[in-house]
Amino acid sequence: MTDVTKEDVLSQLAKVRGPDLEGNIVAMGLVSEIMIREGTVTFAVMIDPARAEELEGLRQAAERAVGQLDGVKRVIVALTADTVAAGPRAPTAATASAQSGTRARTISPPGQASPPAAPRPAPALRQGGPVPGIRHIIAVASGKGGVGKSTTAVNLALALQAQGLKVGVLDADVYGPSMPRLLGLKGKPQTAGGRNLIPLEAYGLKVMSMGFLVDEETAMIWRGPMVMSALTQLLREVVWGELDVLVVDMPPGTGDAQLTMAQQVPLSGAVIVSTPQDLALIDARKGLSMFRKVDVPVLGIIENMSYFICPSCGERSEIFGHGGARHEAERLDLPFLGEVPLDIAMRERSDAGTPILATDPGSIHTRIFLEMADKVWRQIAGSGASAQRPPPRIVLE
Ligand code: ADP
Repeated sequence: MTDVTKEDVLSQLAKVRGPDLEGNIVAMGLVSEIMIREGTVTFAVMIDPARAEELEGLRQAAERAVGQLDGVKRVIVALTADTVAAGPRAPTAATASAQSGTRARTISPPGQASPPAAPRPAPALRQGGPVPGIRHIIAVASGKGGVGKSTTAVNLALALQAQGLKVGVLDADVYGPSMPRLLGLKGKPQTAGGRNLIPLEAYGLKVMSMGFLVDEETAMIWRGPMVMSALTQLLREVVWGELDVLVVDMPPGTGDAQLTMAQQVPLSGAVIVSTPQDLALIDARKGLSMFRKVDVPVLGIIENMSYFICPSCGERSEIFGHGGARHEAERLDLPFLGEVPLDIAMRERSDAGTPILATDPGSIHTRIFLEMADKVWRQIAGSGASAQRPPPRIVLE
């Protein structure tokens, strides 16, 4: 296969006309730095944010033009309001805070792969080589926010650790990181050897989160290619050491950004968290189809806030009509991992940074999470699936 060069990409982009059909986007200086990795070409086109919707056609034209080159498997183009000089690369994670004055404001998420022309090989859907030292990476995802995905990710990680495994947590929710709060972690990671970050530690877990590096407001506006770049750094430029499992807390939802992440991270499998309500279940189905698209096995569904246990009398009531996720899992032929009750202690401990698994070993939650962790681990350990894939690992500069 021919190696695509930046020059090839630029000459294709020179055929794409600018926003008002005057000049081409290269001559007008609207194209950012171009990244090429394993046949995937990523760049941004700078536009006026007010015209983002109207210029979607331009984005697609740029995507198509580059997709026609031999050797291109996938094209990711974002419209951005960033200055071209800053490019689509995120500032390095360690300096993100300092550089927040020049942050990119990408208007639309990166587009999906252009369908390849007939003779070209099918696009490689999963990207990103293995992460040295990490045996398995699993994603915890949800169709929407507020279903308890992050709380579940933390407690599942602790339950896996309770099985004697070495476990880390990567908070991939760069829009709204919650690991600092859920694990009571403050402070900035140190660097090792000038570049790689040393993860923080809580309850024996190694933890990395954008929340350690930037303030909440900055994290919220990271978009498109910046998000991908930031995630790559949080995953790959971290001294994780040897881990049996890295649990990735995905951003809520099943949009383009989540899909891109699922492709960028070499996942052994994914767990979907849902509440019993119908709406959340519909979203969970979207989550399932997202992981299927990128060929990541779904290890099962967890129903959170499944039923309510009265704190004073211990009585169980099914306020949201429990059981929907189990039913849905059966229908979709997926493992059902378990039901986690809605419980005030769970909320209080979670929000105080003292997760229930670590601080109340005798609770019903602990038993439930241990069972779920067992089901998850059996699947990934037994399947022979591994985060390890053959080198070479290509490093973006
Ligand atoms: P998400 O990651 O889906 O946005 P979070 O994990 O941040 O959700 O949880 C949202 C809120 O719900 C938090 O206040 C959390 O403490 C609470 N919560 C999550 N699961 C439970 C549960 N089983 N019982 C009670 N509160 C819960």
